[in-house]
Amino acid sequence: MHEIAHNFGCKHDNDNRDGGVENLNFYARGNLLANDNATIMVNGPVNRIQNFANPTIFFNNESTGENNSRDNARQLRLAAWRIDDYETGDDPVALTIDGPSTIYDEGQTYTWTGNTCNEIITNYQWSWSQDGWTYYNIGSNSSDLVVNGSTFPPKDDAPTIFIRLIASFSNGQTVTEVKSVQNEQESIYYSEKIESVTLSENTGEIRKALGIEVFPNPIVSNEMTLKLEIPLDLDLSVYIYNQYGSLEKVIRKNKYYRKGKYNLKVNVENLTTGLKHVTVRSKDYIKSIHFVTL
Ligand SMILES: [Zn+2]
Repeated sequence: MHEIAHNFGCKHDNDNRDGGVENLNFYARGNLLANDNATIMVNGPVNRIQNFANPTIFFNNESTGENNSRDNARQLRLAAWRIDDYETGDDPVALTIDGPSTIYDEGQTYTWTGNTCNEIITNYQWSWSQDGWTYYNIGSNSSDLVVNGSTFPPKDDAPTIFIRLIASFSNGQTVTEVKSVQNEQESIYYSEKIESVTLSENTGEIRKALGIEVFPNPIVSNEMTLKLEIPLDLDLSVYIYNQYGSLEKVIRKNKYYRKGKYNLKVNVENLTTGLKHVTVRSKDYIKSIHFVTL
């Protein structure tokens, strides 16, 4: 049973989720349970129960799976339509979603494309999810899903989002593919306390309390981290200008921030080299710091 499930794409409990294992779906793993019990895909000195990891199936009152990380049953369901084709003598239909697996910043457009090698797709239905279960439609009738980083994802605080394509094929099959995408638009750190500034204080005080830091500096790779310490709830825009005052990148545009510390990962591969400044602007004030791209 264990080995057959490998052929369906199921992995062990400890197979690396984010790389190292080829073709690993993010949820296609087994699960170690209490009292050395374990689901079918777990190796080692364990008591294997006769269940695949499945968040909706319980063993001794313990869920045998975890949504989006330990759910071999989901992988089996996903692979079943491909395997089923062998019985009827058809070629299995392959559907992939090609496109970025990380999204960085809001000044950019992102495109994912549905591809298939051996059938004609007659309809595309694109949707997205924050939890991998509840999906919201975001496009149809096109092999490309194009989103604008300034409006997508609508919930910025989702660290992982799921892009789903449901494709209808000319042979009558409907096939679903899901791609998990890291949302690095920002990671929010509320853990450190920051000094509070009230709205009644003058803009000079707000300006002083606003923290901007670029890391690393100079920048030698395609990515930089912009640390922002925002002293009160504000609409902010963040821009990168070069030394001649020309705008090179829009990082944020009139985005509402709650008071807090933020780390923004910014893709800088299209910047020219040289002296830059990053400028944070709200309705009432503006603040810049310098950095260098090599
Ligand atoms: Zn194995």
